[in-house]
Amino acid sequence: MESEVRGRDQGGVAVDEPKAGEPSDLKNLGCSGLADMVARFALQPFRAAQIGRWVYREDASTVAEMSNLPASLRSRIAASWFIGRGTIAAATSSADGSCKLLIRFASGAAVEAVHLPAAGRTTVCLSSQTGCPMACAFCATGRLGPGRTLTIGELIEQFMAVVRPAPAGAGRTRPTHIVFMGMGEPLLEPRPVIETIRVLTWEHGFGYAARRITVSTCGIPAGIRALAEAGLRVRLAFSLNAPWEGLRTSLMPNAPPLADVIPALRHYAEATRTIVTLEYVLLGGVNDTAACARALSALASRLPSKINLIVYNETEGTMFRAPSGDRIRTFLSILLPASPTVTMRQSLGGDIAAACGQLAGGPEARVVAGP
Ligand code: SAH
Repeated sequence: MESEVRGRDQGGVAVDEPKAGEPSDLKNLGCSGLADMVARFALQPFRAAQIGRWVYREDASTVAEMSNLPASLRSRIAASWFIGRGTIAAATSSADGSCKLLIRFASGAAVEAVHLPAAGRTTVCLSSQTGCPMACAFCATGRLGPGRTLTIGELIEQFMAVVRPAPAGAGRTRPTHIVFMGMGEPLLEPRPVIETIRVLTWEHGFGYAARRITVSTCGIPAGIRALAEAGLRVRLAFSLNAPWEGLRTSLMPNAPPLADVIPALRHYAEATRTIVTLEYVLLGGVNDTAACARALSALASRLPSKINLIVYNETEGTMFRAPSGDRIRTFLSILLPASPTVTMRQSLGGDIAAACGQLAGGPEARVVAGP
């Protein structure tokens, strides 16, 4: 793990080795990077917690603000490090209270995050990439094409930007749940997502329980295994969307075969002692047939899993439609008796294109999305 944390991330940004003379973003270090940095400075280990608290909890914007650090140490740190910030380039509020934010980072890259307050539960949906190479036929992000995976610093700043108090007044409610279900495929390059989750769950970071964090994947076996090995015990959601290979390939052309994904899911469930969520977007006339319902419940019964149905959020430029209420009822009547737990996702933000699969970054982000 140690050696993985060192070096460069795929964004080409130094993770914990600032280039000579060029300050780096402290937010990009993650927990182990902070510990390494403190060791390199020959400081006592508790300094990592102190610095972490300033960066994450206090949302300090400069090293100079770290008032419980000796002045000489602050100057030493500030010579090599700064604290990166993004900006909210656009915010769109929905009638249901959810809010979609376009967050632009110092690099110029931008992604959308969604804040979803609901009774007793506020969720923030984070993007992991600036586009998506998976090209799922029904998904708006898929039409953007590939982007790049965000750095640890960008992922954390995305979360912080959502809850940071606005200059004009109160901030948004602190999320009770965090889901990596926005733009991109989080497990294609899992390291930044894993390191971000370490900060989200760190007692000196944001202190979240792992069970309140969900990573949603189209099924990248190596990424699923890396997440299992990371020992975080976050919830894993698998975007199944079709219960057999041929149909699935027609909808999700770049997703790995089920024959490779299912063993990785089983491994995840066993290693973390959690139940995997099988996400299933109901597409009218496509995957909402009786045969699909039977195959879905058979597949779910073979795995420690629950099923989460999502009625398709219609997105511009696709021919897919949400099934009628009647078809959904018929699907459920076949699925329910033979399946483990089945839930249906309440979709918020449909009126502002902030619901599942509708995030495409807006016209501005489209321009900056790139490898
Ligand atoms: N790449 C990851 C995370 C992003 S997609 C993944 O595949 O899981 C998040 C979820 O939204 C997936 O379950 C996906 O199948 C679903 N989704 C995509 N487009 C949708 C749409 N238009 N309506 C409803 N759900 C959608």
